[in-house]
Amino acid sequence: MSVQLSRSLESGEPVFSFEFFPPKTDEGERQLWTAIAELGPLSPTFVSVTYGAGGSTRDRTVRITSRILAETGMDAVAHLTCVGARTDELREVLLRFQFAGISNVLALRGDPPGGPGAPWTPTPGGLSHADGLVRLAREVGDFTIGVAAFPERHPESPDLETDARVLAAKEAAGARFAVTQFFFRAADYFELVARAREHGVTMPIVPGIMPVTSVGQIQRFAALSGAAFPPELAARFHAVGDNADAVVDLGVEVGTRLCQELLVGGAPGLHFYTLNRSRATREIFARLTG
Ligand code: FAD
Repeated sequence: MSVQLSRSLESGEPVFSFEFFPPKTDEGERQLWTAIAELGPLSPTFVSVTYGAGGSTRDRTVRITSRILAETGMDAVAHLTCVGARTDELREVLLRFQFAGISNVLALRGDPPGGPGAPWTPTPGGLSHADGLVRLAREVGDFTIGVAAFPERHPESPDLETDARVLAAKEAAGARFAVTQFFFRAADYFELVARAREHGVTMPIVPGIMPVTSVGQIQRFAALSGAAFPPELAARFHAVGDNADAVVDLGVEVGTRLCQELLVGGAPGLHFYTLNRSRATREIFARLTG
């Protein structure tokens, strides 16, 4: 069992991590394991595996996370959301994590079943917010628990101050680190960290990076997550047009600059949304370390 994440958090070492999602097809599985194999040599602090809407990927999240732990030597984090599950069912999933040797959890509320932006209604007998899931995970086992943070405001929050208070509540409940939604302006991240510190948050807040590999896709994700895709950036991507390689190259250039700004400004690491592909993340890493 790898304990790299808890060791890094204890020693204050930077946290570098890669996020994957459980694929639905055999071809998707091949792509996932290829990406994991290609990113392994970068020795991340951990890799994480998302949890699909309404628990739809529960079995795959457990299988993939435990296989990463068993076969790659990398530490792994399983995401878990409150969507569509009663508290006793969430407890059972946490026990399954424990049984599978998974000791790190990213505790999330999840998006409303109607999609981001739809009203949130908790499942009867379930949990309303991520802080409740953090407490539940603490109760069930000795998990190292992470939570989500939002540089540009969570879409349902009235304001950024509320987000900072919520983050402080999640830390008070037992979270040891936070990972942010993706964003494109370093200032948004640094302002989030400053607000969080004012509200007493001390845990590391790791910036989430989504390298742009397709303009249409990033615009869809940005609209869903409430993250802004700045118009000047959109214009640069539209200028390279339909040339897929040129889009990835520009995504690497833009991503590298953002990561440099973040690290120089004191960010405690980087979390990459890989979308199960390794190229952009590997190239950004090579430029950061080269
Ligand atoms: P919460 O912290 O519960 O916040 C949700 C809303 O409720 C916010 O507006 C907040 O202000 C408000 N709130 C929180 N606590 C309280 C309280 N005690 N009282 C009143 N209001 C409160 N989604 C998935 O489905 N699967 C994934 O694997 C997944 N991985 C993610 C990974 C990262 C790094 C991030 C940033 C997001 C991820 N998401 C995932 C999306 C996430 O589930 C959504 O953004 C969701 O809408 C919010 O989750 P949360 O954990 O921040 O919720």
